[in-house]
Amino acid sequence: MTHVHAPVDAPARLRTAGLRVTAQRVAVLEALSQSAHAPVDALHEMVHRDIPGIALQTVHGIVNDLTDARIAQRVSLPGAASSLYELARGDNHHHVQCVVCGRVEDVECVVGEAPCLTPSDPHGMRILEAAVTFRGICNDCA
Ligand SMILES: [Zn+2]
Ligand SMILES: [Zn+2]
Ligand SMILES: [Zn+2]
Repeated sequence: MTHVHAPVDAPARLRTAGLRVTAQRVAVLEALSQSAHAPVDALHEMVHRDIPGIALQTVHGIVNDLTDARIAQRVSLPGAASSLYELARGDNHHHVQCVVCGRVEDVECVVGEAPCLTPSDPHGMRILEAAVTFRGICNDCA
């Protein structure tokens, strides 16, 4: 089962983040809010239905702007061909990934806050976070 976020007020979200409201940005943000974890080409495919002329490169640029503005966040998974993007939730959730089909779902942080793990020797660094991805096999693939 895929978790879908509630619809966002895209223009308000953009304005709050200090980004100019354009039809293209609104369309990308709405596509992002309708998908749980999506690669840029999937977002492009969704946006393309409303704005037929939009280039993949334009969607890439908008996703980067949204990520810089902390409206979106990048989900980098081991062995993934491309980064996935999701709406930033302002939490410290992690992901569980099926090693067979690649399906990705959100899981709450086991610890509750970052950093989830502390190294025995941080080499003088103040640890901000640990990137945690749980890998398993989903029911369909078992
Ligand atoms: Zn699977
Ligand atoms: Zn997520
Ligand atoms: Zn955690």
